[in-house]
Amino acid sequence: MTKFSDLNLNPKVLKAIEEAGYESPTPIQAGAIPPALEGRDVLGIAQTGTGKTASFTLPMITMLARGRARARMPRSLVLCPTRELAAQVAENFDTYTKHLKLTKALLIGGVSFKEQDTLIDKGVDVLIATPGRLLDHFERGKLILSDVKVMVVDEADRMLDMGFIPDIERIFGLTPFTRQTLFFSATMAPEIERITNTFLSAPARVEVARQATTSENITQGVVLFKASRRDREASEKRKLLRHLIDQEGEKCTNAIIFCNRKTDVDIVAKSLKKYGYDAAPIHGDLDQSQRTKTLEGFREGSLRFLVASDVAARGLDVPSVSHVFNFDVPSHAEDYVHRIGRTGRAGRDGTAMMICVPKDEKNLEDIERLVQNEIPRLENPLKKVKAEPQASSKDADDAAPAAERKTRTRRSSSRSSASSKAETATAEVKVTEDVTPVEVKDTPQIEPQQTDQESQNRSDNRPSSSRGKPAESKSAGGKHGQKSNQKSGRGRGGNDRGNDRNVVGMGDHMPSFIALSFAERRAG
Ligand code: AMP
Repeated sequence: MTKFSDLNLNPKVLKAIEEAGYESPTPIQAGAIPPALEGRDVLGIAQTGTGKTASFTLPMITMLARGRARARMPRSLVLCPTRELAAQVAENFDTYTKHLKLTKALLIGGVSFKEQDTLIDKGVDVLIATPGRLLDHFERGKLILSDVKVMVVDEADRMLDMGFIPDIERIFGLTPFTRQTLFFSATMAPEIERITNTFLSAPARVEVARQATTSENITQGVVLFKASRRDREASEKRKLLRHLIDQEGEKCTNAIIFCNRKTDVDIVAKSLKKYGYDAAPIHGDLDQSQRTKTLEGFREGSLRFLVASDVAARGLDVPSVSHVFNFDVPSHAEDYVHRIGRTGRAGRDGTAMMICVPKDEKNLEDIERLVQNEIPRLENPLKKVKAEPQASSKDADDAAPAAERKTRTRRSSSRSSASSKAETATAEVKVTEDVTPVEVKDTPQIEPQQTDQESQNRSDNRPSSSRGKPAESKSAGGKHGQKSNQKSGRGRGGNDRGNDRNVVGMGDHMPSFIALSFAERRAG
């Protein structure tokens, strides 16, 4: 087996590797480092989690240790599709250069140009950047790329998905023809093939896994799920997600939950939080400091569930993720491979579960074709609940349409606060407990609030605290507990709105008889 000491790396790099606790090079490292050190172009086909970052950073550092940086003329360039990935590559550089005096600059959005300009002016050995930001700097005349000796393109397939290929081609054109290129992609789409044929010169091709294969140490499963009604699909999926998480119990130490849309990332994160799960969202619309904070929390283990979009989660290096939940089937089959590659890293076991609604079955087929395997079907843990006569019609998630109606009709006049939202959630939760005793959970059973938010998120962008809430939410707060909640539960039907209004009028001192369920009495 190859040892790091066989690879001709700088002794100070070897020392840092040892201190990082790496025992031996991973296959992509063993395959890519020798040709890279010989000055050859490298085409690395590897997924995240294979150690590919070190496979280009280690030889780069070894080569850079031999020369010196010049003002405004970086000697090497690493292009990453997202800020997070760029920041992660920068962290890798810090780890491996700790015994060397090399300088780096990270050019990503969300950081002031001034700060970055100062670094560039001084001269940097390594520039780690997202393509757009790099070109911004270049166009401002602050950067000269004619001294770039090594250029790395990381996660090229993601660059393609994000529409960065024209930027990449332009950057290739700005760097010297004689530069060395280290090019990494998890998959080789035809467009990627074209780029590599154009810009790489007789590259050493290092492929560590078959195209788009998934690691064997990941236990996979998919729940084929059909909502009881189309307009309940989103809320029932969230409920199913909670059941899947609960079902895993302590085995699920932490997880990344992927959604296809940013709005759903927010909704799912809020929903989970409301149900007592320690969750936070990460997607491109959140500001950088918030993304960094969330990510750090997740890495450190102070945050258990990271709800993410593909772009934000791209390349996240969180070695100990026990689970990946695909709240949606990704629409690009390759994304499935990337998503579930977040778990089962560095030889650990991992679990990946996915929810597939009927309209996504075609995408599921595409994934199975790509990974050349059938993803085992999991039993729907909600089935039992669904089988309960009447229960589902009064179930928590049933609240969605009414909540949405209320939102629409009252949005303009409502001035509810965020806290009243929370109170409403608590209130309506109890209703479900009344109607669906089969659901034994230590967290709330229903989520009318999420549905409410969902309808609003889609129709406007107001901050959640100002979104319209039924005025009665305030009065139906947690203080009143179950009885006031019964009121909320009945408030779903058209006639019940009148009841809602009556209760609203009672303010915070609603007598308990008001909240008794007439429906139940009739039934009795
Ligand atoms: P990457 O594929 O670059 O995202 O790396 C995935 C994880 O593997 C990171 O946490 C690295 O720190 C870790 N890693 C990289 N190389 C090695 C190695 N040779 N031995 C053990 N862990 C490694």
